[in-house]
Amino acid sequence: MIESEVKQLSKQDTASEKDALLLNADVQAMVQKMVDRGIDSISSVLERGGIVYPILKELFPIKSEKEVSDFLDELTRAGILKSRLVDKVILCPTCGSPSVYSKYNCPRCSSFDIGKAVIIEHIRCGFIGSKDKFQTKDVLICPKCKNIVTESDYRKIGTSFECKSCGSRFESPRMSHKCNSCDDVFTYKEARYEPLYEFELSEETRRTVARGTLPLASIIATMKENGFDIGSRRDILGKSGAMHTFDIVAKKRDVVVVANFAFEPKEEDIIALFAKKYDVDPTITLLIALTPPTKEEETVSKAYGVKIISPVATSSIGKQIVELADSMLKENNSDRARKESITESILEPKIQEEINPKHEEAKTSKTSESKQEKTDATEDSKTERRRRKEENSLEDTQSYTSNPETDEEEGRETMDAEHDSRNTDRNNWDSESF
Ligand SMILES: [Zn+2]
Ligand SMILES: [Zn+2]
Ligand SMILES: [Zn+2]
Repeated sequence: MIESEVKQLSKQDTASEKDALLLNADVQAMVQKMVDRGIDSISSVLERGGIVYPILKELFPIKSEKEVSDFLDELTRAGILKSRLVDKVILCPTCGSPSVYSKYNCPRCSSFDIGKAVIIEHIRCGFIGSKDKFQTKDVLICPKCKNIVTESDYRKIGTSFECKSCGSRFESPRMSHKCNSCDDVFTYKEARYEPLYEFELSEETRRTVARGTLPLASIIATMKENGFDIGSRRDILGKSGAMHTFDIVAKKRDVVVVANFAFEPKEEDIIALFAKKYDVDPTITLLIALTPPTKEEETVSKAYGVKIISPVATSSIGKQIVELADSMLKENNSDRARKESITESILEPKIQEEINPKHEEAKTSKTSESKQEKTDATEDSKTERRRRKEENSLEDTQSYTSNPETDEEEGRETMDAEHDSRNTDRNNWDSESF
């Protein structure tokens, strides 16, 4: 399903590397997952087997570490992701495992059996040696002059290493690494020293996401899989005669869903959506937001009857919408025929016009006039509205909202015509896309 959306997108898009990549199904799946989970960065964990990006491993279990890293590199080069250097890690040159520990060795005989030594000088006789050599059971005794050495009798020269095998003393040991995974021992010269990055969506990608191009394709795919009808039309004629554009217009039986997309659920987005909702009167009005609403935004949205859907870990945005609509469907079984006629007019106003040529002008203007007063904020001038109404003889369908009795009969007509309208819809899909 997603793939077909992607193909449609690719038709209309220009061929820049970034755009092409954004249409790649893997990239869409990744961005979608991030959006659904509310994750804004891709970070890695060090596992015995290598550097693992958990979110990508979950998405692409069969991709090798190299393939994942190439994938991330490519997306970073194309400007889809932004990388941030978090650390550098030592990897085994043989097996690539980051499960590596370091050891100190004697530079002369390579033995690992070396220890740190505090070097002191016996002030009276001038003997210099490691403190270990002075140490007897209870007191320090100078190995050269055999006198008891108290704290005031010696001075500390420094700290160095001493090899227990060959006895040599050296300031810095030679460092080697041992791999926990394959037991290989290697020097710093042989080790792989690799950067550890964290990736996040670039500003530009975020904007693309906010415009809805990316998550919408897969939200729509989920909705279609769950029985939603989603046409190519995303503009709906409101009661006032104004056209309103939504990011998603969908219906499932008698439930009509309209949704807009926003990066953050800002109050002005909620109010703008409310104004459209008021004029169009759908069953469910959604604001799909990438960040969860604040308490205030939640309150505002409730007041305006706009539902905010934001990513949660347990359910994708698409699934949340499907669940919401399904619960509505259970409640809404009563006046189905009425809604059916509305939904039909929403999805295919032109066809609706042919089906229902009768006008009930008086009733229409009465209904829309009273509603207009409340929606004035979003409308153009009244004259403009009237002009549009005259041009566009679709308002008759709007009157159904206020007149269930006549709708019942008209509804049946529209249901008969549903078949044709769907066909037209399909044709539109071939030429248009989201
Ligand atoms: Zn040695
Ligand atoms: Zn001495
Ligand atoms: Zn190894």
